[in-house]
Amino acid sequence: MRTPNILFIMSDDHAAHAMSCYGSRINQTPQLDRIADNGMLLRNCFCVNSICTPSRANILTGQHSHLNGVKTLSDKLDGRKPNVAKMLQGAGYQTAMIGKWHLGHGGNADPSGFNYWNVLPGQGLYHNPVMLEPDGEKTHKGYATDIITDFSLEWLQNRDRESPFFLMCHHKAPHRPWDSDEKHAHLFEDEDVPLPDTFFDDYANRSNAAKEAKMRVARDMNARDLKFDTLGPPPDGLSEEELAKWQYQRYMKEYLRCVASIDDNVGRMLDYLDADGVAEDTIVIYTSDQGFFLGDHGWYDKRFMYEESLRMPFIVRYPREIEPGSFCDAMALNIDFAETWLDYAGLPIPDDMQGRSLRPLLNGEPPDDWRTSMYYRYWMHLSHHYVGAHYGIRTPRYKLIYYYGEALGTTGSVDESKPPEWELFDLEKDPHEMCNVYDDPGYADIVTELTAELYRLKAEAKDEE
Ligand code: CA
Repeated sequence: MRTPNILFIMSDDHAAHAMSCYGSRINQTPQLDRIADNGMLLRNCFCVNSICTPSRANILTGQHSHLNGVKTLSDKLDGRKPNVAKMLQGAGYQTAMIGKWHLGHGGNADPSGFNYWNVLPGQGLYHNPVMLEPDGEKTHKGYATDIITDFSLEWLQNRDRESPFFLMCHHKAPHRPWDSDEKHAHLFEDEDVPLPDTFFDDYANRSNAAKEAKMRVARDMNARDLKFDTLGPPPDGLSEEELAKWQYQRYMKEYLRCVASIDDNVGRMLDYLDADGVAEDTIVIYTSDQGFFLGDHGWYDKRFMYEESLRMPFIVRYPREIEPGSFCDAMALNIDFAETWLDYAGLPIPDDMQGRSLRPLLNGEPPDDWRTSMYYRYWMHLSHHYVGAHYGIRTPRYKLIYYYGEALGTTGSVDESKPPEWELFDLEKDPHEMCNVYDDPGYADIVTELTAELYRLKAEAKDEE
């Protein structure tokens, strides 16, 4: 049997809790749900560094950020080094990278390992975006999510049918500034989006890091985020609480309109695979580069190791191997994706990749020695939204986070020292992470155990800073 095609669709900042297959309380995603219904949904897929550029590098290299050199938004992926696209291409896959690249441009930073690439420069625009190809840049009329899908379908239609394909279709949406298209502009117009339980979080019983972060929907969004120019300012005379709720509605409706366009366009891709007769032979994955706060803890954005930001949606369909309507609770990481693709392609997994193939999990047979803890690190100390650098460990029940309070010379960080602080959450008793129990004597043994495991994982990951 021929090695399978791989269609990897990734959006930017799409939280799992804005997908109906993940039980969303706020929207419906029928096309994405098709993937989950016909395949598997991973309930515990996590990123190892919750920020756009690093997560993309984690995925392409199968390595943690400190090893692949992309720790922050200002780092570029060195195209001279190995990546999974090069390996698949070398084994005869036709490879393409279409949409948001966000790993630098020019010289060694251009996409490498792809037969075809056509990408947004940096963040790119939602409307009439400029896109870069090897022979220069062009402006395209229309909406980014539609255009990225159009180019993806065109590439698939013109592919060489004698060899398998690996297509990375990367949407810009629903990244800030959340500009919707005309088709979905009126979605949710006559209804309110439910508030999350933790919207009015007062950050009591938590670290200073959480209190000091500047990513509150009620306080830190600007006029551009809230579309005062195009959609109008808030009505006069609102109380502080009413204004906070108004800003939440404006933010979430625009965000969810962007998601609705992704959903439609993923449907177009799935329809194409059906019509082309290759659905059986194609692994389809939908994910996002990290999670996002959708008013949870009163926030937008990501970065923190808290659940909403740490968790990536991950749904996958491959009719030849994966049971329809199945679920997986084992911990998957974004540094596992490359190894997974190499496994399906029948290729060896290099020793310097740090994840493991998810294929046994996707087949419903997690190995006995599968990980029960994961290592996380965010490096961009205080630079955006004033979120401090931190590292930590998550197990099925607990999360231990250490805010070490220093920039450590990391690019794109602010050189300001903060007193170090620890947080421990008991996710079974406190799934919303509202109460830090690090100093609770009842958890002293857990703290000792998790601290040892954290530093074991850190050393295993070869993170020496
Ligand atoms: Ca992102």
